[in-house]
Amino acid sequence: MKRKPALVRKAARPKSCAEKTSIERLLVGCGALLEGHFLLSSGLHSGRYLQCALLMTDPGRATRIGQDLAALQGLHPDVVISPAIGGIVVGQEVARAFKARALFAERENEVMTLRRGFRIEPGERVVVVEDVVTTGASTKEVITMAKSRGAHVLGALAVAVRSMQDIDLGVPLRCLLRLPIAAYQAQDCPLCRAGAPLVKPGSRDFRRLQIQRAPTPRPERPRPPLPALGVPSAGVPLRSKREGGLPKRAKKGLPA
Ligand SMILES: [Zn+2]
Repeated sequence: MKRKPALVRKAARPKSCAEKTSIERLLVGCGALLEGHFLLSSGLHSGRYLQCALLMTDPGRATRIGQDLAALQGLHPDVVISPAIGGIVVGQEVARAFKARALFAERENEVMTLRRGFRIEPGERVVVVEDVVTTGASTKEVITMAKSRGAHVLGALAVAVRSMQDIDLGVPLRCLLRLPIAAYQAQDCPLCRAGAPLVKPGSRDFRRLQIQRAPTPRPERPRPPLPALGVPSAGVPLRSKREGGLPKRAKKGLPA
């Protein structure tokens, strides 16, 4: 059977991992760094896409990323606000590390706002958290929205900044990874000129390819399989010292 050419493929592993930051190794390792021809949420086209959400599928890892981000600046915010959807999980984890409230902002009639009863009080200290910053437009909108409510915006944090240029948000921006990736206006895009099919992340095409290409998620500590309920081997009782568990020998399928 003839295989169709892939629209999206995982970025090649870096030749020298020693030169790469641990966060970049993590991104490549979990298949979050993709190569193809992508339509970014900013409207720009790019040959690489960072699916940061894959990095957050391991809750323990997400918590550590939140701690690393919180440690980047000596900030003491009352509130963390993230633009939905990309920033929600990382924002929650950064807020956990700061012991601050976690809110997210979303667009209503194209305007970034707080919904769902979320509030910030005048004078509260705010840090804006994003997963990937490309142009900084969403982050800037959240900063403007927070300032308009009287908040004092201390700074912005991102897992990765993929801009080729410096981004001026009016507050300090810090990130775990700077990964300059070229992005083009549609009329200047070399991938469009080459006739490469354009994929919108989140689209049906993208999801199908993600399913084909993404590696099987691997939890950091694999749990042993539980024996089937109601079929205790060799009379092993289903009660145990720990709630929900079984004696060690029973887990190995050995008689108790
Ligand atoms: Zn293009």
